[in-house]
Amino acid sequence: MEAQTFDLIVVGEGVAGLHCARRAAERGLRTATFERAVFGGLILNVNELDPPPANAPHSGAELASAIVEANAELDVESHPDETVTGLRATASGFDVIAGDSTYHARYVVAASGARRRMLGVPGEEAFAGRGVSQCADCDGPMYGNADVVVIGGGDSALQEALVLARYCKTVHLVHRRGKYRAQGRFVDRLAGEPRIRPILDSEVRAVVGETGVAAVTLLDRSRDATRELPCTGVFAYVGLVPNSEWLPAEVRRDNEGGVVTDGSFATSVPGLWAIGAVRSGYGGTVAHALDEAERASLAIAALAT
Ligand code: NAP
Repeated sequence: MEAQTFDLIVVGEGVAGLHCARRAAERGLRTATFERAVFGGLILNVNELDPPPANAPHSGAELASAIVEANAELDVESHPDETVTGLRATASGFDVIAGDSTYHARYVVAASGARRRMLGVPGEEAFAGRGVSQCADCDGPMYGNADVVVIGGGDSALQEALVLARYCKTVHLVHRRGKYRAQGRFVDRLAGEPRIRPILDSEVRAVVGETGVAAVTLLDRSRDATRELPCTGVFAYVGLVPNSEWLPAEVRRDNEGGVVTDGSFATSVPGLWAIGAVRSGYGGTVAHALDEAERASLAIAALAT
């Protein structure tokens, strides 16, 4: 059977990928999107985007849904639940391999996003779903009047600690340094949240409990002293790992696996672009994702037409 052929295949139905497909289709490109799970990417679990995108829904799920609807009207062919496992350059573009199926496209955009990094301490995996969570908006209501621990010093940790403070009795915000790397507006908001208790210069070394989480083992780095901090929920926001494993070895990446691009998001392989959280140097906000999608689609449309 002959492979289905598109002008553009976008791998990943997060906001960056969806928006890129939309803008490419509006510019006349026959476009398909592939997604290994459900559309939306990491922001699917963010109820209030901060800052909210201009002239668009303010919840992650609503924003993604709105673009999915627009794409359907533009005849973008969506392949949910279809994991792209490989990519092969051909004389006329790329073979995109998804399990037993192969598709063809003149151009490909890698918009496969990133996953949350695990903390990597004893107990983290064992208590996943039994006190260890990575979704404050989904699981926060289950911790009403409870003590929880959030780990990290970036935007995710602070933003999600602020969400959890709506539900929990105490949110211990554990960061390994003396200073946060999060944006100043999130740091400033901590001062107005008495339920959030910052614990700086400290590391969570283990998650402990019996049937569920009962405490974390905490190392105070300045005193080199360890203690147990009682809690029933643990939320680690310690960075992202780019989902770039499906790309061939010749695609240049940084030390973290982020795909290296030029200023117009072209990768080291001609015809392949990368946008959003899979890309090295991604800015991290929804506005960045939309902007990268817009600019990549413009560059591809200029080549294709
Ligand atoms: P991040 O910016 O990479 O921050 C990760 C944090 O985890 C850092 O504070 C880091 O500590 C800490 N960390 C890393 N490994 C650790 C370990 N093993 N043990 C303890 N702590 C560890 O990740 P992120 O906060 O998930 O954000 C990812 C991207 O999304 C960023 O670009 C961010 O700006 C963006 N984002 C934006 C928004 C927004 O605009 N509303 C919201 C969320 C995320 P160090 O500081 O010591 O390195």
